[in-house]
Amino acid sequence: MARHTVTLIPGDGVGPEVSEAARRAIDATGVDIAWEVHAAGLGVMEANNGDPMPQHVLDSIRRNRVAIKGPLTTPVGTGIRSVNVALRRDLDLYALVRPCKWYPGVRSRFEDIDLVVVRENTEDLYAGIEFAEGMDETLELIDTISRLGGRTIRRDSGISIKPISVFGTMRVFRFAFRWAKDNGRRKVTAVHKANIMKHTDGLWLRVAREVAGEFPEIEFEDRIVDNMAMQLVQKPELYDVMVMPNLYGDILSDLCAGLVGGLGLAPGANTGDEFAVFEATHGSAPRYAGQNKANPMAMMLSGVLMLRHLDEREAAMRLENAIAHVIAEGRDVTYDMKADRDDPTAVGTSQVADAVVEQLERDAPSD
Ligand code: NAD
Repeated sequence: MARHTVTLIPGDGVGPEVSEAARRAIDATGVDIAWEVHAAGLGVMEANNGDPMPQHVLDSIRRNRVAIKGPLTTPVGTGIRSVNVALRRDLDLYALVRPCKWYPGVRSRFEDIDLVVVRENTEDLYAGIEFAEGMDETLELIDTISRLGGRTIRRDSGISIKPISVFGTMRVFRFAFRWAKDNGRRKVTAVHKANIMKHTDGLWLRVAREVAGEFPEIEFEDRIVDNMAMQLVQKPELYDVMVMPNLYGDILSDLCAGLVGGLGLAPGANTGDEFAVFEATHGSAPRYAGQNKANPMAMMLSGVLMLRHLDEREAAMRLENAIAHVIAEGRDVTYDMKADRDDPTAVGTSQVADAVVEQLERDAPSD
């Protein structure tokens, strides 16, 4: 029997290509993984009564407790709820860890960056509680709010609700502080807009301060989100682990990815108390689907996070080193890592996998 069984969801768009590259690289570490491959996303919707996440896929993740997934497309403006958001909610994957680390050889305006965004993954404006403009229930809600708060909301408004709970905030900060401790980090920064949204972000900041008191060995501070955005591009070296409500985390983790070379290099780990689903920060980049063009390194680095989670730390380190080696050599990298995006020397997704696998084979531990 294999040492680990992992659910693999190839995903939409460039997903199948980057997932296959990541699987090859993870297998080349020698860690014994049995992969349970399950399709989800746009491709299975028709056969599955319009549902992009078949029950057997969720059952597989529940059974194996660990999954790695390619990006899934959410069509804009169709009323289809994001399958990614639903997956995080159904499996209660409440903390999304997005490390943003600069590797020598990456073209970026910044060097030596090693930041981590911990994004709360289940609450905030992503809770999916929305009321469409003009609907009876929306008008009723508008009337109720006007009656209770004495404030007027225009009757032609759509409404999204932003719930932030003590429970949700406490567990994500406890997770972040523990993660910081376990990974030798020195500081946690709580990001918020408590000056304006006193009952949601204000609660977030209050609970963050309470939890910080439980971890005196880790430095704690807070930043207002707009100031945080500016500071990240001016002096990113001042920051370490940053904990953010869902929406700010979504936006600022892409900003951090931009600091270290772009979405092609930004991995992620959706984590809860029972399950973990690893995925790149980038989406399905439909424009590049099937062209062997997308950078698989973000998926591979998600594989590094997965190996650490499986307690295969030595293999995780070898995989990260192999990726770093390929980046530093600069020969077998995709278009997005070249100075000129049309550089004809850029290689494809599968060639990057070849290079990482070869490097792992060169570095394989001898018996
Ligand atoms: P995207 O990340 O798919 O693409 C934005 C741009 O980033 C691309 O045009 C491309 O230039 C670049 N890019 C992204 N990944 C790359 C890679 N691996 N290598 C090289 N370049 C890369 O974002 P989008 O266009 O806003 O979203 C497309 C779809 O993906 C949407 O349906 C969205 O909902 C979905 N999405 C899914 C996830 C997920 O599954 N976790 C995350 C984000 C977006």
